[in-house]
Amino acid sequence: MSSKKQILVGDIKIGGGAPISVQTMTNSNTEDVQATLRQIEHVTELGCDLVRVSCPTPESTTALRKIVKHSRIPVIADIHFNYKRAIEAIDAGAACVRINPGNTPSSGIKEIVKASQLNNTAIRIGINSGSLEQDILERYGEPSTDAIVESAVLHCRKLEELSFHNFKVSVKSSDVKTAIDAYRKLSRLIDYPLHLGITEAGTFLPGAIKSAIGIGSLLADGIGDTIRVSLSSDISDEILIAQQILKSLKLLKNSVDIVSCPTCSRTLIDVIGISKTLNEYCSHMRKELRISVLGCCVNGVGEAKHSDIGIYGFKKGIAKIFLNGQEVSTLDEHEVIEYVKALIAEAT
Ligand code: SF4
Repeated sequence: MSSKKQILVGDIKIGGGAPISVQTMTNSNTEDVQATLRQIEHVTELGCDLVRVSCPTPESTTALRKIVKHSRIPVIADIHFNYKRAIEAIDAGAACVRINPGNTPSSGIKEIVKASQLNNTAIRIGINSGSLEQDILERYGEPSTDAIVESAVLHCRKLEELSFHNFKVSVKSSDVKTAIDAYRKLSRLIDYPLHLGITEAGTFLPGAIKSAIGIGSLLADGIGDTIRVSLSSDISDEILIAQQILKSLKLLKNSVDIVSCPTCSRTLIDVIGISKTLNEYCSHMRKELRISVLGCCVNGVGEAKHSDIGIYGFKKGIAKIFLNGQEVSTLDEHEVIEYVKALIAEAT
């Protein structure tokens, strides 16, 4: 279930019934402040709520200070191996630091917690099947669901022992089923916000499908508070897919939902071309709209009546247009896009 506990990462509420936030990660060299800020600005425009940057060097945490200052969305620093980078990132103003306890010594975690408490910085405990602690791995023999969950719970308890509760947790695996099982199990054991993701999901199509199945199944169960789709693709694709997952579950407010039929021999208008163009046009639009595009009257009339804007094939090359359940126009299919764009612009 969505966690009862709520934390703040910058000004973004996570958990406790807050909207599911979308995050991504820059892939520029963090030390290149301008390139990193350009990526951050681009994903901010697309509706991304939080952004993570990796901080592997002292130079990168120096750059982070400028990045944090100019970013319009909270910046999370991703730390691996050297806990000192986390301390520097907290000092540089990161809203959250992501640590992997599997490769951070206990003494380092204590120092990170101390700095986080002083600066009101959140922490993500990022358990990853690829970097579990050696003793847990030896006991389970493989990075199984139980091994991942045991590691996560152990580190939650460690932070609690340090009187630190301002954290969220992820238990990522590149195996979709393992990740789903791990998050389900973990959600029954802890009440901290969960960051969902399928790690190393792959290139655009397989990665989008794996993420939709993994993240989508959990969100449909009410599990999860913030999501990141990890793709070997342009980072704007991560936002697109994350938002589409949320849209599909009606978890993204102010978004355009476009339904279109698969086409068949009865298709009378260019359903594929029209719906593709409208999908691209509306992909990042923040309006609460349902648009239907159907090839003929079989399901077209019913869908059009139940959509804000409905389009269906009436005769060969001719479309009927409905607005708020009422027929408003009969058009040549080539006129449909411009006409519908005008209706979208007028829609509040
Ligand atoms: S709506 Fe019409 S054109 Fe589209 S799949 Fe159904 S029957 Fe075929």
